[in-house]
Amino acid sequence: MKVGIVGAGVAGGLLAWEMVKKEFDVTLFDKNAIDSEAACSFAAAGILSPLAELEMAESKIYELGTRSLQLYPDLIKELDTEIYYRHQGSLVTAHGSDKVELERLYRLLETKLNNGKDQVRKISIGEKEPELAHLGNGLWMTNEGQIDTIALLTALQKQLLKRGVSWVENTEVQQIEPGRIKTDKGSCNYDWVFDCRGLGAKETLPLRAVRGELLWLHAPDVNIKHLTRLMHPRYRIYLVPRPNNVYLIGATEIESEDHSPVSVRSTLELLSAAYSLHKSLGEARIIKQVVNCRPALPDNLPKIELQDGIGIINGLYRHGILLAPAVVEQMMKLFEQALIEKDEASHAINC
Ligand SMILES: Cc1cc2nc3c(=O)[nH]c(=O)nc-3n(C[C@H](O)[C@H](O)[C@H](O)COP(=O)(O)OP(=O)(O)OC[C@H]3O[C@@H](n4cnc5c(N)ncnc54)[C@H](O)[C@@H]3O)c2cc1C
Repeated sequence: MKVGIVGAGVAGGLLAWEMVKKEFDVTLFDKNAIDSEAACSFAAAGILSPLAELEMAESKIYELGTRSLQLYPDLIKELDTEIYYRHQGSLVTAHGSDKVELERLYRLLETKLNNGKDQVRKISIGEKEPELAHLGNGLWMTNEGQIDTIALLTALQKQLLKRGVSWVENTEVQQIEPGRIKTDKGSCNYDWVFDCRGLGAKETLPLRAVRGELLWLHAPDVNIKHLTRLMHPRYRIYLVPRPNNVYLIGATEIESEDHSPVSVRSTLELLSAAYSLHKSLGEARIIKQVVNCRPALPDNLPKIELQDGIGIINGLYRHGILLAPAVVEQMMKLFEQALIEKDEASHAINC
């Protein structure tokens, strides 16, 4: 069985991994070099937050995200590389007059969660993070985690190559049709083809780009262990702790396909909010600035579709790292069902 996958972001990469595990012959195309880190997936902060996403997203995101949190530990084991991954809950906090936002979020989650209300609790922030005790009360979300996205994608690349995937880099795919992938270097035939191009599929899907900016800080004087969100009526920020006192501060959400460097306005907003969280972040050093554009569909939901020999995964928007394992699991179910149906049809003809 020959499978061609276009797009080596988190969607295409994880799909290739599941196909390889089934011993299919996989070819993975990407327009960028294998080590370029240009895909949107490399920009992600790696937050795995099905609960917090419920504030703005539909329950489908929560369900897929919760499933991914169950799948991640085994996936990390399979990749056989050390990947920083934590499933230890997250904090949500706000300053004085914005505390009303916390109460609103609590009530909203209570309504949306039905049976899972115990996943969100009111606590004193200092109980979990002594250095943030000055923030007073907050929310504690138990079923949330984070992963080092770059480590995940790098480990995935290494294992895919080790397991014999043909990685066709620096090759822009011009057309995807049943059984065929066309590039500027010629056409290749496959039994099945999959389109995981993110924003690269704009010609065939009603995609829009949502720009995100993220800052990496090194703050030796700050010791925060949990993913922490600051609610604010105008902008929300999150602080994602990584090993060795590195913190990721993000992320903006701007409706624009603009890949230019991080703006002064965004830097001011992100860093002012971060500084208001912990004064020692004022002495932190900015070690990296990240910009990329999220692929979003009009309903902001993922598309997982398989028809006429072509599979499509797209629209992972602001939660691609959270959703990818569960989305790929769903695609594999559709694929296995299609293989069974094809097999039965050919059997009927033979009879
Ligand atoms: C700043 C920022 C922070 C984020 N933080 C988080 C987070 O904390 N948690 C979370 O869950 N999500 C987060 N996201 C969202 C997440 O990054 C995306 O949802 C996810 O990366 C989308 O993955 P994808 O594989 O669909 O697309 P992509 O990663 O964009 O991959 C698509 C691939 O297709 C290739 N391609 C496109 N067109 C062609 C073509 N014609 N021929 C060949 N190859 C092609 C591209 O080169 C690319 O490698 C964040 C996003 C941003 C920008």
